[in-house]
Amino acid sequence: MTVKPNLIGGQWREGSSSIESINPSDTRESIGHYALADAAQMREAVSAARAAQPAWSATTTQVRSDLLLKTSIELAARKEEIGELVSREAGKTRAEGIGEVLRASQIFQFFAGEAVRYGGENLPSVRPNINVQISRDPVGVVALITPWNFPIAIAAWKLAPALAFGNTAVLKPSEETPGVAWELFRVLERNGLPAGVANLINGRGADAGEALVEGVDALSFTGSVRTGRRLAQSAIANMVRVQLEMGGKNPLVVLDDADLGVAVECALNGSFFSAGQRCTASSRLIVTEAIHDRFVDALRKRMRSLKIGHALAAGTDIGPLINQRQLDMVQGYIRTGRDEGAELVEGGEAFQSGTPGFFMQPALMTATSNGMRINREEVFGPFATVIRAADYDEALALANDTEYGLSAGICTSSHKHANHFRQHVKSGLAMINLPTAGLDYHVPFGGTRASSYGQREQGTYAVDFYTNSKTAYVGY
Ligand code: NAD
Repeated sequence: MTVKPNLIGGQWREGSSSIESINPSDTRESIGHYALADAAQMREAVSAARAAQPAWSATTTQVRSDLLLKTSIELAARKEEIGELVSREAGKTRAEGIGEVLRASQIFQFFAGEAVRYGGENLPSVRPNINVQISRDPVGVVALITPWNFPIAIAAWKLAPALAFGNTAVLKPSEETPGVAWELFRVLERNGLPAGVANLINGRGADAGEALVEGVDALSFTGSVRTGRRLAQSAIANMVRVQLEMGGKNPLVVLDDADLGVAVECALNGSFFSAGQRCTASSRLIVTEAIHDRFVDALRKRMRSLKIGHALAAGTDIGPLINQRQLDMVQGYIRTGRDEGAELVEGGEAFQSGTPGFFMQPALMTATSNGMRINREEVFGPFATVIRAADYDEALALANDTEYGLSAGICTSSHKHANHFRQHVKSGLAMINLPTAGLDYHVPFGGTRASSYGQREQGTYAVDFYTNSKTAYVGY
């Protein structure tokens, strides 16, 4: 059995144990065995990043830019091969897998540009004979902890800005997707990654908590609220800058004046594509009275036309859930919904589709109220509810009545309501006549309340997290 190692200080290193990654579309298929770093090796990776940081931040920005651009070019050239790996390991359809690799490539390309573009400011002082110069220094060593649902895009949107702005990094990917992370590091290494500048430590979350938070200058985390809260506490206790991107309970409001076809496609895509395993998935469909029944009927019809199955089979619209635990959890929420008085009107069955995998028909529950657990807690699967609203005002109030605030959408032909919604919905992303999921890479990403904490990720805003500003007063 070959165990694929971790990259620590430029050395491919065996771990103290290993983990097998399996294909959620066909559990008989092994993706590979991966070395697991224990807490001691994680500390070693942090030390290696610390040792490499002065030289990396002293390189020209051209050197950093070249590494990122070459990485981008290789990812784009191999998008089908690596995309297939994403599909095999994370259960995404072929189009989604390729699309994610292309997105990672675009992110590396974007930050190859930002590496040479970012700068500071020169201002006159309010006092005589002084100039004020504001420049940006790297934060230092950053820990990056990522989830399984976007195994290459999220790693890219943390690693690329970290390296662009002169930091060194330690990436701990999810235990569910070690193979994609390993492949990404092979690409980085082949394109000139210096020893210690970025380190890969596949490992267990529990080992990462202390080992990563204690020795670093900043921590960027994407994952569940539970893990995020715990990490934030230890980050703050250690004076580590922290950025958290977590869950959502994203509403999609459908008003009477919506284009029915657009609303149904937004709901279908936002709620169920990628098996609903997106932090921006629409899980609460808030629908006003006059369109409610037509919308539910049309959505059910479209749900029945979806092909669920092996992620790489031709024609598959939706692949499996990531593992048995996640499938059981979604099934449990369907039972909870029924106990709460909601009605399952479409889908919901777990099934096998010729291969042993974690498949489920997308589920739609109606007759729900916003106070039910199924409308309060993140389900993270192909599961959506419908909540009736009397009018726009009630729909907006329901949309905002949640502890989360990542993405929120509205389908309407009224400019007045669209504009009001954009201004008053309490979320980091507002989508007008578009699904709640689906983002650009050159603009900031993040939410409010329990969905996010700290500075925004992505686009030109990423520089704020990955650098410290320095204000110099220069007398003349
Ligand atoms: P998770 O919190 O279980 O795991 C995320 C990462 O944290 C993994 O690498 C895991 O190993 C690590 N981890 C777990 N316990 C840890 C600990 N004690 N110390 C340090 N690290 C630890 O989340 P998940 O199940 O992998 O991902 C699903 C969640 O991610 C959902 O809640 C989803 O909404 C969220 N998510 C958010 C975004 C966003 O940008 N807001 C994007 C994708 C996913």
